[in-house]
Amino acid sequence: MFLGTSGDPIAVSKQLRKSHGILLRLGEVVFFLDPGPGSVSDAISKGLNLRELSAVVLSHRHLNHAGDANAAISAMTLGGLDKRGVLIASKELVDGNEQKPPVIDPFFKKAVERILFIEDKKKLGVGDVDIVAEKLIHDDESFGFKFFSHSICFGYISDTEYFSGLIERFKGTDVLMMNVQNPFDISTPYRLNAEDAVKIINGIKPSLVILTHFGSKMLHADPIIVTREIRKKVESEIIMAKDGLVIEPRTYSLGSVQERLKF
Ligand SMILES: [Zn+2]
Repeated sequence: MFLGTSGDPIAVSKQLRKSHGILLRLGEVVFFLDPGPGSVSDAISKGLNLRELSAVVLSHRHLNHAGDANAAISAMTLGGLDKRGVLIASKELVDGNEQKPPVIDPFFKKAVERILFIEDKKKLGVGDVDIVAEKLIHDDESFGFKFFSHSICFGYISDTEYFSGLIERFKGTDVLMMNVQNPFDISTPYRLNAEDAVKIINGIKPSLVILTHFGSKMLHADPIIVTREIRKKVESEIIMAKDGLVIEPRTYSLGSVQERLKF
């Protein structure tokens, strides 16, 4: 479920759409990807039980991805009373370093059962889902992920610029979710626009592409019109995410995950 689909600071601060935050269920495992500010209370107000979360996953430290990280862990662990669940994040976000403070409060760091630190190409596991982190290029350290369940490979390209090798990293993805902040003809450093999205989709050829994380310029251009233009240039099915959208990704499996799990 897409709790929110806004991208840049203007779209988030004005709440042109709700803040980024995605709940991804693969079999019995439920991930909360990039809980932006307000996404936890939004999930709860929708009647979703965040005690069922298996893991909170942070691609990077920006507010619209990690603003509710501690709140998400709190909801997963009943305010820290019930030590459970997994946190997936880089060491910098969990422990901080000389340049940057941690994003995770020490109390909530102790509230989870396990912390899995992200590194480029590192293979992680939660339940029967294997996860591979893929380093991206953004104005802060940022990672994308490939989630391998028995039936599907779900890819998430978080905030990044287009770079050579990006397509290779996400080859074999059945369903690809991608943060595309800008429409055609508008570029901002370290972010994708619709033109980049076309290149990536034609390189990876997933069954389904879900575009999300829209900046104010994309919202102004109208994601529906931008999608129509993208569809003319690619063969994959494209969905533009909306706040509250629910998608069943398994129906888009290419059915060859077992092959691709041999890495
Ligand atoms: Zn970012």
